[in-house]
Amino acid sequence: MPDQREDGAAQRPLGLDDVAVMVAELHDVRGNQQFSVKSRELSDQFAYLAGVHPEWFAPFQETVLTELELLEGFGPSFADQCVLLHGAPDRCIDRLMSVPQDRWSDIGVDWALAAIGTPAALDAVAWHVRNGGDRHKYETCGIWIPPTGPAQYRFTPHRRAVFLHPAATMAEVSQATHPVGLPVHAVARDPDRTPIAWHYLTLRLAEVPGLPDWPTERVHLVGPRHECEWSLTARFDEHGRYHNEQVVADAEEFGENDEDNPDTLLPDDEGDLLGWAELRPYDAGLEYRNGHIELTPGVVGTAGGPPFGIYASPTCDSCGRLMFHVVSVEHHVRAYGDGRRSLYICEVCRSVTCNATGWN
Ligand SMILES: [Zn+2]
Repeated sequence: MPDQREDGAAQRPLGLDDVAVMVAELHDVRGNQQFSVKSRELSDQFAYLAGVHPEWFAPFQETVLTELELLEGFGPSFADQCVLLHGAPDRCIDRLMSVPQDRWSDIGVDWALAAIGTPAALDAVAWHVRNGGDRHKYETCGIWIPPTGPAQYRFTPHRRAVFLHPAATMAEVSQATHPVGLPVHAVARDPDRTPIAWHYLTLRLAEVPGLPDWPTERVHLVGPRHECEWSLTARFDEHGRYHNEQVVADAEEFGENDEDNPDTLLPDDEGDLLGWAELRPYDAGLEYRNGHIELTPGVVGTAGGPPFGIYASPTCDSCGRLMFHVVSVEHHVRAYGDGRRSLYICEVCRSVTCNATGWN
């Protein structure tokens, strides 16, 4: 395999021989060593495979899923596992189902089944939850288990890297396909009464394959004045402007005189807070580190893919479905707040929920 790069990032697999070595090395990182340097390096390499050459993993998919000591050391993010393990044959599911249930979490059987994503695998996930499995763990990864029937993906497995470009003027922002920093009146039907104080990103849904049908062309990721740990749910009018906003947040999070109060940071006056986003497919130009791509210069998040898998995903307040994850970006997209901002939709009830979580 090639030498370790000087910046400390994991070496990149260059061919099938490298992947065979990576799979063999899973023996060394299973169990309590899962957070070792070697484990992280392998996870970064598998993340690169998922992003750039998922076909190289295909010859090893069944090996990892049936030799449990390998699966136990297999540690890329759930999003990456969804790419690498997708569509594995049903005999792999039979093998996973033979594992005693009290060992599923340790070995990673639950995530593996969800990542395989075939009808048989999603039936197995639903069976697991209805027989004592951890519903919350699946839901943090965007897997919904309805009252009956198989588990459902509430995300598209097709991912796009979100690159941020600065904009000099509001005119430039307004004309962009994916603007960052729109004025509140452009995204709220009642700007004088809305709790929306901050526009992070507007996304053109057609640019992310696999999203549900949606009545408007674009959807907005917005936030209230709170810095972190908030949730904002809204309906929208025919122009896509939000109304009936409901915010759940910690009231102590900011004060009237807080210097970080966004009311003092009028977007129109702060050119460095304006921009536009560009969506690009995952490729070799991205930096695959620590389970995400956000160390790539210019990247601020991912559109598509499952939610990050640490925090609870929102549930639709009308129908009870787990909401469909659309995009997550880090707060640096507008230099306000702290952590990640995510956008979810319920395509049945036509509602949106934006939320803010910590880093991990
Ligand atoms: Zn709903």
